[in-house]
Amino acid sequence: MEKQGFDVVVAGAGASGLAAAIVAARAGASVLVLEKNHVPGRKLLSTGSGKCNFSNLNITPAAYHAASPAFLKKTFTALPPEEVHSFFDGLGLLRVEKDSGRLFPATQKAQDVLGVLLNELEALKVPVVTLTEVLALKRGDNGFLVETVKVAPKWVKQAPPGEKTTYKAGRVIIAAGGAAYPQIGGSGKGYALLTALGHTVAPPSPAVVPLKIKETVVIELDGVRLDAALTLKAGGKFMARTSGELLFTSYGISGPAALDLSRAALAALPGGQVFVQVDFLPQLPENELRALLLARAKAFEGRPFRHFACGLLNEKVIRAIAACCGLDWNTPAGPGLDILAGELKAFRLEITGSLGFEDAMVAAGGCACAETDPATFESKKIKGLYITGELLDIDGDSGGFNLHLAWTSGLLAGRAAATGIRK
Ligand SMILES: Cc1cc2nc3c(=O)[nH]c(=O)nc-3n(C[C@H](O)[C@H](O)[C@H](O)COP(=O)(O)OP(=O)(O)OC[C@H]3O[C@@H](n4cnc5c(N)ncnc54)[C@H](O)[C@@H]3O)c2cc1C
Repeated sequence: MEKQGFDVVVAGAGASGLAAAIVAARAGASVLVLEKNHVPGRKLLSTGSGKCNFSNLNITPAAYHAASPAFLKKTFTALPPEEVHSFFDGLGLLRVEKDSGRLFPATQKAQDVLGVLLNELEALKVPVVTLTEVLALKRGDNGFLVETVKVAPKWVKQAPPGEKTTYKAGRVIIAAGGAAYPQIGGSGKGYALLTALGHTVAPPSPAVVPLKIKETVVIELDGVRLDAALTLKAGGKFMARTSGELLFTSYGISGPAALDLSRAALAALPGGQVFVQVDFLPQLPENELRALLLARAKAFEGRPFRHFACGLLNEKVIRAIAACCGLDWNTPAGPGLDILAGELKAFRLEITGSLGFEDAMVAAGGCACAETDPATFESKKIKGLYITGELLDIDGDSGGFNLHLAWTSGLLAGRAAATGIRK
């Protein structure tokens, strides 16, 4: 079936697609949003553990990987970060800053970030058609033919083949996201659309993903959450350093500090063994820590090690590390304190892999940035085609950087796609 035409068709109702649709419609374009899930913005609802860390006050090209810094410099000049924040202010979203620069909705609910976007689309009368997958794009007269198929919701097993519909579009924004978290919409479908159109797509790989650790000590530490500094080493060489919240899990490590190391760790793994050194007391230089432990040993002389340890560090951590140093929990601290100081500053764990796309916040890889314009995200290969968000070969650190790029690319693409269509 062939349907009426739209000035702009957006493939994907995620972060970048919703932002793009709003600005294009505000500029006077007729806009249609197509989404394969049964609801728009499904991934957005899961961001920031349901609180949505939607941006950061310290947006800089250095927080991103893969694209050249010069590309992102042009992007953030075309749309300065504050304008993204103003966009959300204008939608009525109150925000709060947490943990040096991370921005969240004041309500702490991702639902409200999605809510203000969907309310605006409703006010602009932009249709968001769900359970509709974009299968292919073809060049038509003065634009594109967008071929779609109706898909059944996930919970419907053995649904009959869905109806196919072709929409005419003056311009198309592909905002289909990356391969991360397939449970809530991540897929390779956007990459396939781009490859079919002749774009170069770097193979996706999980990034910002929890890491698996070889040592079974992590099982004892499961659930421990603390601030630490992490140093990544491969082949004895320094690779990267991060600091912030670290979460131990039964399989390994997660939390922002570990997630931010994951990209470099996974890239180094094919080359051999990769280790992370955990500094549990980053605020104390090693010599000061040694002096502190000696003073404590004196103060708690003759008393069990657990008295010495209480109040120094998370109990599960100090207990597990002390055991590795031959210190018994119930007998006084003796020789071994020197080793303990070294272990608390550089507790070595071997990284064996990641939890994969199923648990990755972001996928690295995607459409080569050199094939898009950094100020409009228009394809340099196909006029009138725009590529946004995680589909691009740009991935950011944790901290709101990925969503910020999704909004930025969506807003720039939506604005450019509507330009010159009508006033
Ligand atoms: C669990 C989790 C937590 C996260 N937390 C944060 C956070 O707090 N801060 C942060 O900055 N980033 C976070 N991220 C990353 C962030 O969510 C993504 O980088 C961002 O959503 C990417 O936006 P996007 O528009 O490119 O894609 P998405 O938001 O993924 O949207 C793409 C949409 O396109 C649809 N789609 C795909 N193919 C088709 C097709 N062929 N036809 C029609 N529709 C299609 C998908 O169903 C999806 O709805 C998190 C990610 C995950 C998985």
